Amino acid sequence: MDFAQHTIDIARKNVEEGGRPFATVIVKDGEILAESPNKVAQTNDPTAHAEILAIRDACRKLGTEHLVGATIYVLAHPCPMCLGSLYYCSPDEVVFLTTRDAYEPHYVDDRKYFELGTFYGEFAKDHTERRLPMRHEPHDAAVDVYRLWQQHNGGDRRVPGAPTVA
Ligand SMILES: [Zn+2]
Repeated sequence: MDFAQHTIDIARKNVEEGGRPFATVIVKDGEILAESPNKVAQTNDPTAHAEILAIRDACRKLGTEHLVGATIYVLAHPCPMCLGSLYYCSPDEVVFLTTRDAYEPHYVDDRKYFELGTFYGEFAKDHTERRLPMRHEPHDAAVDVYRLWQQHNGGDRRVPGAPTVA
């Protein structure tokens, strides 16, 4: 099975059916674990990117939030939302089949607070510098929720079972 070609085929079919030009295929042990096109146009859910939907399906099937050992094929280099979700699920490798520069002449999805070229940079800024209006409203009781969680976690502050380096 040519997983890259399969990813392209899913995205092509989605476009032909009125969807957006993105797809994700998640492979583990040589088999497809989950796959999805982008479904934002079909569902009006702005988080229904192919990566998010396929990761949800794969994790549900495996009964874990960690996709260690998986290879994730994506049609295009992931947006910041999906890049974050890929970091959270710890796959062995992410394979992208085209770059934003390559598809930009044919597809643009700019919004009120970002354009293709500014989106990643927004995340590195202090919240006061971001175009998305954000306001820090400190509440001591908010931190108490974390203290409670730590107590329930046997005094450990780490999320159990997460694959970390050290
Ligand atoms: Zn995305």
